[in-house]
Amino acid sequence: MNIHEYQGKEVLREFGVSVPAGKVAFSVEDAVEAAESLGTNVCVVKAQIHAGGRGKAGGVKVAKGLDEVRTYAEEILGKTLVTHQTGPEGKEVKRLLIEEGCDIQKEYYIGLVLDRSTSRIVMMASEEGGTEIEEVAEKTPEKIFRETIDPVVGLTGYQARRLAFAINIPPESLNKAVGFMMSLYQAFVEKDCSIAEINPLVTTGDGQVLALDAKLNFDENALYKHKDIAGLRDLDEEDEKEIEASKYDLSYISLDGNIGCMVNGAGLAMATMDIIKHYGGDPANFLDVGGGATTEKVTEAFKIILADQNVKGILVNIFGGIMKCDVIAEGVIGASRQVGLDIPLVVRLEGTNVEQGKQLLEESGLNITSASSMADAAEKIVALVN
Ligand code: ADP
Ligand code: MG
Repeated sequence: MNIHEYQGKEVLREFGVSVPAGKVAFSVEDAVEAAESLGTNVCVVKAQIHAGGRGKAGGVKVAKGLDEVRTYAEEILGKTLVTHQTGPEGKEVKRLLIEEGCDIQKEYYIGLVLDRSTSRIVMMASEEGGTEIEEVAEKTPEKIFRETIDPVVGLTGYQARRLAFAINIPPESLNKAVGFMMSLYQAFVEKDCSIAEINPLVTTGDGQVLALDAKLNFDENALYKHKDIAGLRDLDEEDEKEIEASKYDLSYISLDGNIGCMVNGAGLAMATMDIIKHYGGDPANFLDVGGGATTEKVTEAFKIILADQNVKGILVNIFGGIMKCDVIAEGVIGASRQVGLDIPLVVRLEGTNVEQGKQLLEESGLNITSASSMADAAEKIVALVN
């Protein structure tokens, strides 16, 4: 789960990570009032959307005085920002962060992620802050330094110092930078983050070390432990179909192709997407209906797929292990009737109760193409949508 920058900074503040003073604003009046209460000469007006690259897209403006705060707030609120992370359709700005302006000496990058190959949290740091880290990784990978963290001991002082030295933090700010990294790691672990990215971390003219930007993502499987974090979810920022899917505990990710997929098991779902690609098609979604799905769940899944205007055909690929093929068939039939299915549907069933499942589909009178293997199913649906 993703949250806004201003929320991320509040979480970090609890752990003693230094961030500039700032306030959220939902209207132009709010923004001016927030700037007034900060009492600084220079304020930064920042669009709050769940995407980075706002600066380049005109979503971060430095304002000198309240009149400029008003002008920029009017300009940014309600605007649709298109950044390299929003996709071409962009995201509408509904919230602003009004933050004190900082006298930036230099920008750095600090990130924490889980490295799945070592099952360890890794802290990454670079002197190339402010720019896209993906670009640094591609062009000058030697400028990114890493420390792998032992879960028992946690981030140690010497690891943090080694990183701070590697990225050339000035000696007078070294201790603050080390303290910053330790607190950031603490926040990451205690709040069950999946990503914490500070880009940029800055040193300022008066010797401070601050997070000017904060991107925190959380492990959704751990959210039950963190009611405060769960409460920060902003549904306006999420895909409607994905919200609907999460109500039924379905793992659904919308994509931009035209073949809807309904599959059980994440691995089979990935393989199904791959084989659609292999035959020249494009999947419209990833969907894992899970192991013990009920008819109701399958029906909802089917409706979510059909709610996508881009979907021109559906491929159902189910292996009935725990899940039974006749349950899937009932769900598919029920949903097709409810929504009035009028696009091609290819079904490949295998496993428990496969004969009953196939029979139900045949007797349904619906226009369903049955397939005998994954390859056969993919080839058929690609041919039908073209
Ligand atoms: P994004 O990554 O979405 O572009 P950032 O929060 O990183 O947004 O802001 C972009 C740039 O704006 C930063 O790299 C920094 O140079 C500047 N900036 C952001 N916040 C402040 C601030 N409080 N004071 C001064 N400059 C800022
Ligand atoms: Mg940034």
